[in-house]
Amino acid sequence: MIVLYSILGALAVLVAIIALNTWIKKPSKRKEGVAKFESDLERDKIAKHLSGMIQLKTLTASSMDGFDKEAFLGLHKYLEKTYPLVHKTLGREVVNEYSLIYKWTGSGSQKKPFLMMAHMDVVPVDERTAGDWEHDAFSGAIADGYVWGRGALDMKGHLTAVMEAVEKLISDGFAPQRDVYIALGHDEESMGTLGAQKCVEVLKKRGESFEFVIDEGGVLMDGTMLSVNADVAAIGICEKGYADIRLSVASKGGHASRPPKQTAVGTLCRAIVAIEKHQMKPTLNEAMKHMLDCVGGYMKFPLNVIVSNMWLFRPLLLIGLAAGSNGAAMVRTTMAPTMLAGSTATNVLAEKAEAVINCRISPDDTVQGVLDHIRKVIGNDDVIVEEIKAFAASRVSDTDSEGFATIARTVEQMFGEFVVAPYLMVAATDSKFYSDISDGVFLFQPFRSVMQDLSTIHAVNERMGVESLSEGVEFFAQLVRNADER
Ligand SMILES: [Zn+2]
Repeated sequence: MIVLYSILGALAVLVAIIALNTWIKKPSKRKEGVAKFESDLERDKIAKHLSGMIQLKTLTASSMDGFDKEAFLGLHKYLEKTYPLVHKTLGREVVNEYSLIYKWTGSGSQKKPFLMMAHMDVVPVDERTAGDWEHDAFSGAIADGYVWGRGALDMKGHLTAVMEAVEKLISDGFAPQRDVYIALGHDEESMGTLGAQKCVEVLKKRGESFEFVIDEGGVLMDGTMLSVNADVAAIGICEKGYADIRLSVASKGGHASRPPKQTAVGTLCRAIVAIEKHQMKPTLNEAMKHMLDCVGGYMKFPLNVIVSNMWLFRPLLLIGLAAGSNGAAMVRTTMAPTMLAGSTATNVLAEKAEAVINCRISPDDTVQGVLDHIRKVIGNDDVIVEEIKAFAASRVSDTDSEGFATIARTVEQMFGEFVVAPYLMVAATDSKFYSDISDGVFLFQPFRSVMQDLSTIHAVNERMGVESLSEGVEFFAQLVRNADER
């Protein structure tokens, strides 16, 4: 009897602790309305500026062969013409012919400079779906409250907002105390090694380092995507790593009428199945921990209980997150087979069968760790595993820093009803290179219309809300002012 009472007593204490933790983490009510600034921005004019930028086909190209120099030089000229005060006041430097660094020299401050990033290149339009666009992809049409076209969200809209904000600040007579930089890459969509990486090399050589850097990545999002009962302003604090890994199997080949028991294609397929079956272990990486700390209290039951009592439920949470593709991308290294090649004729055995596995590396794993894992689960030396290109996850930026606080404060001023939360960016951007010269690399795009149109990025009907674009301009202007406060 005593044993039973002891068990019941222990259970009661456990339930009380769980309930108490959940109650402590329960957030206070969010602000209802939206804190808007008195704006004298000319929305239509700003929309036209973005429209003009979209019409310049600055398509990304993986090599210089398909690269349209004129389009990029045209965009440089367009920026000069559209933002005369920026070009009169800031120093401009061309890096590797097509990328740009602007420096707004401050009047004097102990503070390190900060840097706003954007990229000028856009992904091509898939010819098969070109006819599905409501407005031609490079028309820059302004209709129904939107600016339409490739790059509107990714990321000429962001680029417009940054340039427009600085132009406006100058025309209002604002002059920063600390130095402010803008860096515009020209090959983000094909890895950024010719643009952003070169910009970082130039800045590093000069001994520059930055208090913080802000680039695309985190967005204003519908909280239901994260099972959260509030809208979330996700600020990226880390970017997953990347690896393209080639698997290849060689064989004698020959005529398909007399196949061996084991063909190269068969061996390769077994290897791929083994990789899909044996995923890497999910972990609660630091970026995720920070995110859950901020949104946990807003999560739906029973997630709020689970997240508030991680000491007990961590394994359960990881299993739950890893079960879906969105959650899995946040907690583990993902491995996706993307390319396959075998024989070139129906009746010929492949002499070489090849596959590419595209991996996105968790901040808790390393490139070598992923290679080792793949080799181990395949367990067959006939399958050659090679790295094509790879880089590790970026360092997790400190949320307890001036940069994060400045961005979060600006978000709260502009988008008060959103819960600010750090975030793990699962895709790769130019900002990864900047970890070299800044401890605070943050990813955030301040556009409300992205909430509805996120799926149009790299797809049909990419568009930016005219009103959202103006809000984005306000955001960056306010960010510069906030960053300059003593
Ligand atoms: Zn982008």
